[in-house]
Amino acid sequence: MHYLFAISLALLALMQTAASGQEQYYSLDDFSRVAKIDIHAHIHTDDTDFVNLSKRDRFRFVNMAVWSSDSKTNAEKHRTMWVQYEADPDRTAPICSFPLENWDSPDWQQATIAYLKEQFDRGAVGVKIWKNIGMELRDSEGQLVMVDDPKLDPVIDYIESRGKVLLGHLGEPKNCWLPIDELTTLNDRSYFSENPKYHMHLHPEMPSYEEQVAARDRMLDKHPTVSFVGCHLASLEWSVDRIAAFLERYPNATVGVAARMGQLQYQTQRDRQRVRKFFIEYQDRIMYGTDTGVRPGRGAEKYAYVKKKWLRDWEYFNTDHQIEVPELPDPVQGIKLPKTVVDKIYRDNALRVFAASWPGQKRSVSLPQLNWLAGKWRCKMPDKSVVDEDWMRPSGTAMLGMNRTVRGDGQTSFEFMRIASEDGSILFFASPSGRKATPFNLAYYDQPNQRVAFENEDNDFPNRVIYDRRGDELTGRIEGKFNGQPASLQWKFELVE
Ligand SMILES: [Zn+2]
Repeated sequence: MHYLFAISLALLALMQTAASGQEQYYSLDDFSRVAKIDIHAHIHTDDTDFVNLSKRDRFRFVNMAVWSSDSKTNAEKHRTMWVQYEADPDRTAPICSFPLENWDSPDWQQATIAYLKEQFDRGAVGVKIWKNIGMELRDSEGQLVMVDDPKLDPVIDYIESRGKVLLGHLGEPKNCWLPIDELTTLNDRSYFSENPKYHMHLHPEMPSYEEQVAARDRMLDKHPTVSFVGCHLASLEWSVDRIAAFLERYPNATVGVAARMGQLQYQTQRDRQRVRKFFIEYQDRIMYGTDTGVRPGRGAEKYAYVKKKWLRDWEYFNTDHQIEVPELPDPVQGIKLPKTVVDKIYRDNALRVFAASWPGQKRSVSLPQLNWLAGKWRCKMPDKSVVDEDWMRPSGTAMLGMNRTVRGDGQTSFEFMRIASEDGSILFFASPSGRKATPFNLAYYDQPNQRVAFENEDNDFPNRVIYDRRGDELTGRIEGKFNGQPASLQWKFELVE
């Protein structure tokens, strides 16, 4: 056990209160205020209407061009993906795919790697493989090509060697293999009724659901260190337990929720706590997305459509309201996740996974940018103690802070703090009661929201220090583990001068 602070009985009592129910939640009104990333978009148009309108809601995108069997549209999808990226590299992160037409040609691998090199050099941050591998593409002998085909191995090795992300939409929702009257969501019912050729229940000669999932897993067994994003909840959308098992088995994998909210909400109607627990337990491994497609001239129309979905999803993740959703006949109760979890699912996980994207979303920070923390701050606690925290403006390589807490009975504690740039990184040093300083690394920085977090995983409490400024109010928060339990303390400071 390593506690940074000497823990008095009073502080201990306060911490237990904090741990037992002072979580913070976003409201519906916070939707447009929080910077967010939709990791699953197909924006295939030259105009930037959709992306520009989405700025109102502070959405950025991962924009994917897939390689379907319709070879005429593939080049156009890639062209528009680059148009969007080059119009503003800070709004969309480009994901390419690769041609499959010459699969049987002896130089397919070489040509594909050369093609990907060109895409990466231009700025592509990842490669998407699509369900046509496993469900459609056949080799010259008429055999379906599955994703664990050895021919793909050098290509996946190359993607990994360049530090790029591999995204997979492999297989389909389990509903695709079930009879119409057993389908769990209304959207799947109407889609498979209208498209019987894609309804695998009617095609027993094709690989089963479990065969699709197993091929994907065998591919990952061969490439355990590639950063893999399982699109559509890795096609395990029907069971949060199966997704959890997948994430446990593949520590470098993450999943996106796009187009599978209905299946999550179906499970929420049956066991809300289980779904909520899944999101909290795997908060570092799940990313928000919608699978929004945008065609030329339809940006404004699509924005109005997806905005309704964004708001419904926000309500589901952030509140405990009963929500009507088009995928289900009955309303679903929201799972009301803590702010810290929502921030990860809606943004921070994507910033980490697609680390080379959205240059304006600074993950690192230069010292002058922390100017907003400077000032004299005061917090009056319910127990009558007064906490003063003063921060000097950044100058040179440091900004210095000090904190003094005076209790009602006059008992006084203090801490010296320093935020310093050292060798290009920003560190937070805490020195409570003048003891030897403990360094915390910069974990997260958001300039538009004036929010910064530092962490030191070697410390039990705190292992995270967070500052969040809203106008003349500054929230200071420390988080960590106490006796193995998550614990946190928070101060709301007002600007004194
Ligand atoms: Zn998609």
